[in-house]
Amino acid sequence: MNVLVIGRGGREHAICRKVSESPLVEQVFAAPGNAGMSDCATCIEINEHEQDQLVEFAKQNDIGLTIIGPEVPLLEGLANRFRAESLLVFGPNKEAAEIEGSKSFAKSLMKKYQIPTAEYEVFTEFDQAKDYVLEKGAPIVIKADGLAAGKGVVVANTIEEAVSTLEEFLLQNKFGSSSAKVVVEEFLEGEEFSFMAFVNGTNLVPLEIAQDHKRAFDGDQGPNTGGMGAYSPVPFISQDTIHQAYETILKPVTEALVLENRSFTGILYAGLIHTASGPKVIEFNARFGDPETQVVLPRMESDLVEVILQLLNGETPIIEWDDEAVLGVVIAANGYPESYQKGFVLPACESIDQNVLLFHAGTVKNDKGELLANGGRLLLAAARGKTLADAQSNVYKELEKLNWENCFYRKDIGNRAINHSVVK
Ligand code: AMP
Repeated sequence: MNVLVIGRGGREHAICRKVSESPLVEQVFAAPGNAGMSDCATCIEINEHEQDQLVEFAKQNDIGLTIIGPEVPLLEGLANRFRAESLLVFGPNKEAAEIEGSKSFAKSLMKKYQIPTAEYEVFTEFDQAKDYVLEKGAPIVIKADGLAAGKGVVVANTIEEAVSTLEEFLLQNKFGSSSAKVVVEEFLEGEEFSFMAFVNGTNLVPLEIAQDHKRAFDGDQGPNTGGMGAYSPVPFISQDTIHQAYETILKPVTEALVLENRSFTGILYAGLIHTASGPKVIEFNARFGDPETQVVLPRMESDLVEVILQLLNGETPIIEWDDEAVLGVVIAANGYPESYQKGFVLPACESIDQNVLLFHAGTVKNDKGELLANGGRLLLAAARGKTLADAQSNVYKELEKLNWENCFYRKDIGNRAINHSVVK
């Protein structure tokens, strides 16, 4: 069959590559895709929000399955539209994707169904939000209610920082309507991990867990970003904790969505913190994580397309995983996640060892075939290894060979796991 992948980031590159390895698949198309995807997909010039054209393309090109990568088209109802046209699609309807689109909705769902998460209140008025912050004290977490490309969360270490964030979000509309409402939430302490599952209604099949690095700079310093690197597995999170997260979080939330008439079909992503009283939710996403997908899918031995088809057919697929570790490092333009330059030439990556997996995100090619920067997060380089330490040295060794002028990457991805023992 032919498969269409919607999106243009590193995550979609990883999905396209995995799909292209399936013996069931004849051709892979990416809409709109990016400059680096030519190794595994044909890019078509249709944007994620051009629903009429996407449907038309799917019909004319005999697309047997469409996988929607990013959250924005899901919240615009692209999956609803494909289903209405009787086209097979993997991704939730917009009603179910609201679990990512509105943090206040996700929090109220968790409250109603007693799914463990941080204590919180929702505000639209600055004065009330400020009073709440003064009452609770710091550290405290401020979250824009709507989508903000992973940048709408501030962990405020002082009351002053919390209040100035509330000013930016509620009074200066930093993220427009996305920050017209905020969730103010208890600060949770513990190790974070990302737990994704293939979901179809109440049928769910977990993926291997990963750990993302949200902060821009080494030592988890600097602002939150869309993610600066990731690895899988996460050896210090025990199987008991994963099981507990499955039983107390993923299972009940999918059941809750069905009960609320928002049945979910796609990848449900739970961003979790393993606290002293067990795993708690910090966010849900309605799709594959980025950059987690780039390190989790290379560990999946099973055929992704076959797994999705079985799931959509009401079956419960069994997924085989590779024991090897995969560790990925994001290369971003200087200045990201704030303002950054575009258009500078990136080093020729051909000299990088063939065993390093390169996933493109914000890149374009010019007439000369050179790779240019065209976004904040540019590339993710990932390597395999028997252990995380091996994978880490394999990837950094290769990155150090090139001159990453105008770019930066974190030098400590994986250190937490390598220097850590299992958390009870
Ligand atoms: P989110 O976009 O909701 O995943 O939040 C981005 C990052 O902020 C997370 O990866 C955490 O590092 C941090 N964070 C979010 N919520 C909390 C919380 N309640 N307590 C501590 N850290 C948090």
